[in-house]
Amino acid sequence: SGVTRDIKFHDGEWNDKHFTVVDTGGLVPNSDDQMEQSILSQAAIAIEKADLIVFVVDSKVGVAPLDKHITKLLRPVSDRIITVANKVDNVKSEMGVYEFQELGLGEVMGISALNGHNFADFLDKLTENLPEIEPDEEEANYTAIAIVGKPNVGKSSLVNQITGQQAVIVTQEPGTTRDSVHLNYFYQDQKWRLIDTAGLRRKNKVDFGVEYFSNIRSIRSIENSDTVVVLIDATQKVSAQDKRIIRYARSKFKNIILAINKWDLIEKDGKTMSKFIDYYKYHLDFVSYAPLVFISAKYGTKVTKLLEKIIEVRKNNFERIKTSDLNKFIKKTVAKVPPRHPSRKRVRVYYCTQAEVDPPTFVFSVNNPKLITKNYKRYLLNEIRKEYGFEGVTLKLFFKER
Ligand code: GDP
Repeated sequence: SGVTRDIKFHDGEWNDKHFTVVDTGGLVPNSDDQMEQSILSQAAIAIEKADLIVFVVDSKVGVAPLDKHITKLLRPVSDRIITVANKVDNVKSEMGVYEFQELGLGEVMGISALNGHNFADFLDKLTENLPEIEPDEEEANYTAIAIVGKPNVGKSSLVNQITGQQAVIVTQEPGTTRDSVHLNYFYQDQKWRLIDTAGLRRKNKVDFGVEYFSNIRSIRSIENSDTVVVLIDATQKVSAQDKRIIRYARSKFKNIILAINKWDLIEKDGKTMSKFIDYYKYHLDFVSYAPLVFISAKYGTKVTKLLEKIIEVRKNNFERIKTSDLNKFIKKTVAKVPPRHPSRKRVRVYYCTQAEVDPPTFVFSVNNPKLITKNYKRYLLNEIRKEYGFEGVTLKLFFKER
């Protein structure tokens, strides 16, 4: 008791069924201890989200007062409970299993986690009761977030705020590369993953090379994410490094949110924020579609707003415009400012469809793709955004010959 603290995710497979096991910390209801309370509230959300709940009791101890208490908590979801009595490794403890029937949570199965007794039966029962889920559906629910920015901008502070005060932390999971750690947790209805938090937490004491390594890390985490939160220090000018990071995220067609951090350090009057907005819109005009959120990672100010923005942008990323609407709109847009080419060759835009979401991809059918100028592409992009929004989403345009 009191040893397991973190909640962990593990992926499992049995009889061709794939599932994720959420290993909650030990439950201690009505505890005054803050850590235990936080485990309980995390477990409560895990219980709410889970398709099945495995309630583990100790066959060597018998029905304990705590088991009865937890049973009460689980009663409302009893149709999703499988109760197992653990530590059944001899005949004597096998006898102890029946005692747990009195909890009224259905048939209790005796197992031994240590020596595997009854485990195949247990896993059969588990997987029989799991709903069928399309793997794609599962992926779509999942938001991978990279928090990037130059050293000392407040990345670790932000991660700590998010995991400390928001919703439920669920785990640390080893990432794909050797010393990177992903942090999984639930936020509202969604499963989120913060990419490479180890890189944020482990501080390099030596200044030399810090920027270089932080760049490499940023690049890796941007690649592994679908939403990039770029932290920018409000007390400093926009730097070349900030721009590099943003350009890279844009080139990978990621969702981008600009979080202006250390906002608490700025002296403000009624016009300060709009001045700052103008400043960033001007210096970062190549991502004018990225929302700006002014936060203080240190004090947690507006962190919730940032999280809501992430959800909103993610929704935009899956928006699909009906082809008929899109074509009406494109026709109007092309008529308003017709495409021209310096060669004076005739340029025609015939048709447009949104071929994909995530990222939204627009395919234009034209007489000759080479005749569409960069400026004209920008015009089309801007008009699409004016009409349909897509805030925070990097759109893809393709031009192909009819
Ligand atoms: P990282 O290198 O990007 O992970 O930055 P850290 O999170 O370690 O923050 C660097 C320093 O800036 C620390 O001393 C933080 O306390 C401080 N800091 C971070 N966010 C804020 C903020 O919103 N306001 C203020 N005043 N300080 C902050």
